[in-house]
Amino acid sequence: MRKQIAAANWKMNLTYQQGEELLDSILKEEISLEKDQQVVFAVPFPYLIMAAEKLKGRKNYFGSAQNCSDKKSGAYTGEVSAEMLHSIHITHCVLGHSERREYFSEFNQALAHKAELCLEYNITPIFCCGEPLSIREVGAEEGFVEAQLKESLFHFSEDQIRKIVIAYEPIWAIGTGMTATTAQAQEMHAHIRFLLASKYSKNTADIIPILYGGSVKAGNAKELFSCPDVDGGLVGGASLVAADFCSIIRALK
Ligand code: PEP
Repeated sequence: MRKQIAAANWKMNLTYQQGEELLDSILKEEISLEKDQQVVFAVPFPYLIMAAEKLKGRKNYFGSAQNCSDKKSGAYTGEVSAEMLHSIHITHCVLGHSERREYFSEFNQALAHKAELCLEYNITPIFCCGEPLSIREVGAEEGFVEAQLKESLFHFSEDQIRKIVIAYEPIWAIGTGMTATTAQAQEMHAHIRFLLASKYSKNTADIIPILYGGSVKAGNAKELFSCPDVDGGLVGGASLVAADFCSIIRALK
C-alpha cells in the first residue's frame, strides 16, 4: 500500500514554547501508526532540532523544514541549505508551497534545483502544486498543475521520482475555509497519477503519495482521505490545534 501521510505545516506561527507545547500535546496521545502511515511536522527553522529531538525514536513520525535553498552552499545570507538540514537529521522538506511561490517568487525552475538538492541529501521533498482560482474558473487547472510537475520534477529518473511526495493544494482552498469537494480532489489526484504513469510507469505512479491540502479539518479529513487517490493531507490551520491534528492523524486510511 502507498504511504498515507498527515503533514502539519505550522508556517510562521507559534513561539518556540508554544511549538514545544503543541508537539508534546500531540505526542502524548501516543497515536500508534500502521506500517504505511506517517506523520510529518513542518516547523520553522529554529524549531527543527527541538522537533527532531522530540520525534526521535517515534516510529513513522518525522520533522520537516518548510523550505530550503536552491543553492548548495556559499555566500547566500539568510538561506538554509539541504545539506544543513541533513546535518541535523531532518528527513523531509516542503517545497514550492503556494505562499513561497507568491510572496517569495519561487518558480518551477528554482524548485527543480531545490528538489535535486533535497534528494542529494536524502531528504524527502513534499512538493506542492496547485492552481489559483482564476485558472480553475476557466477550467485550465489540469494543464496548470501539469506544467508545475513537468518543469520541476519530470527531469528526475524513475528511482528519484519514487522518493518524492506530492501535495496538491488548490490555492483558493488554502487558509480560506473553502475546501475542494471530494470529487474535485479525487479528479486532480487521479490526473496527477495519470501524468506520473504516462511519464514513468503505472508501478511508480502507484507508489507516490499524493496529499491534499486546502482547509483540511478534523471534520472533513476522513471524507477527503477516503478518496482512492488521496493519500493524506498537508494541513495548515488545523495543525495548530492538538485535538484537531490528532483527529486528522486518526483519519488516515
Ligand atoms: C497549507 O498550509 O498548506 C494549508 C493547506 O493550509 P490550510 O490547511 O490552513 O488551508
